[in-house]
Amino acid sequence: MRVETLSPFSDIPRRIEIEGPVFAGGEGDVYFSRCGEFVVKIYHDQVLPRDKEKMLHRVLFLGKNLGEGSNLLCWPLALVRELEGKRKIGVVTKKIPRPPFRELADFIFSPREFKKAVENGANWLQYLQVAHSIAKTVAILHGKGCAHADLHFKNFLVDIRTGRSVLIDLDGLVVPGFLPPQVAGMMPFMAPEILIQRVSPSQKTDRHSLAVLLFHTLLFRNPLQPLICYDPEDQERDEKSGWGEKALFSEHPFDFRHRPRSLGVPLFQRGTLSYTMLPPTLRTLVERSFIEGLFMPEKRPLSREWERALFASFFSLWRCARCYQYFFYPYWRHPGLRRCPFCGKQVTPPYPLVGIVYEQKSEEVAIQKERVVLGHGFQVVGKMFHEQSKDIFGEIRFRDAENVYVFQNFSPGIVTAFFPSSFGRRLEEGEEIVLAPGMILDFGGWYLEVVEDGRFFP
Ligand SMILES: [Zn+2]
Repeated sequence: MRVETLSPFSDIPRRIEIEGPVFAGGEGDVYFSRCGEFVVKIYHDQVLPRDKEKMLHRVLFLGKNLGEGSNLLCWPLALVRELEGKRKIGVVTKKIPRPPFRELADFIFSPREFKKAVENGANWLQYLQVAHSIAKTVAILHGKGCAHADLHFKNFLVDIRTGRSVLIDLDGLVVPGFLPPQVAGMMPFMAPEILIQRVSPSQKTDRHSLAVLLFHTLLFRNPLQPLICYDPEDQERDEKSGWGEKALFSEHPFDFRHRPRSLGVPLFQRGTLSYTMLPPTLRTLVERSFIEGLFMPEKRPLSREWERALFASFFSLWRCARCYQYFFYPYWRHPGLRRCPFCGKQVTPPYPLVGIVYEQKSEEVAIQKERVVLGHGFQVVGKMFHEQSKDIFGEIRFRDAENVYVFQNFSPGIVTAFFPSSFGRRLEEGEEIVLAPGMILDFGGWYLEVVEDGRFFP
């Protein structure tokens, strides 16, 4: 069969040979192109909303300058005008190769999927990369003024080996200037106000779905999973209450009704991961999403905030000496309570170096940013301070004999070390300097203060 297409992109063929349908859905039928490059969706005429074609035109137009988003978003590339000479409405998108891509749900549905991925060589580090990539994707969409309206773990496709993700199903976007649709989404990801008051999807409801999705990706469970039956007579009403008006964060500080029993027990010992394994900034975003913002949409974190916090969190990873999983080094806990959340092994010496990053705002004012966790061989890079930076300032080394961490400077004339006794000295190229608590390294507008040097705990 053949479809005639219309596209603002010059590399999309005007005619595409298709095979199928490979999938028949409520909205339309899905075909693959014979060349193997495209997916073509043809809508059923009878259920087509008015203005759908105009709306799709607008979506196509919005996809013209995606930049770095073009790898994260499977954006519609063309409209279908005709199928076998008959007037039809449809949409053409790129075909994402499966494998290596699979639905996100296949990796995060429960701890079982995570354990299986680990057996196949995956590490939690890649899950963190996927979470960051998801947040970035939604931030790009929201930056264009759109909302997705139906974010869940089946419309993100993931290559877990590389930590990459692609968002599909973008033909239902809520586009500025068009009436938002009433979607029947996946209840566990839907904002409570959609279930309670039938509110139309928007960026605010997306923010809820995004928070659920990120939590699910990192901790392998839904943060709002109801554990109580709210209507024994009617299953649908029960679910609607559980995810809607009775929605409750599983780790609410005072209300324990939805708290999993094995919470905080190491995951590989049949435990359940707690959000307290996340560093402070991410924890705050979880609380704003599921405690303060659960029924107050305006309090929910922006997708950009998630993206930034997830990016910064890469610099607080540590690796377990027993199970080899990466996890956030829990510097916020007493040293005796710092354990791997997956296998439960206590961290062993040499402990990493923990520092606080500051950004200079004016002559007198420096703002405290994230904490960073550094070990032997870790590079001190500009990305620790600023996402776009490509600088490499130096490297952290552990000297076994003396049991100290040193910083080796790679960038002459840039780094100044301030000692607790308050004098400063500019470092030479290649110079090594022993790091002790209270020391500050100045990278020109950015500072790193040593809080823990691996031996001493404040
Ligand atoms: Zn471990």
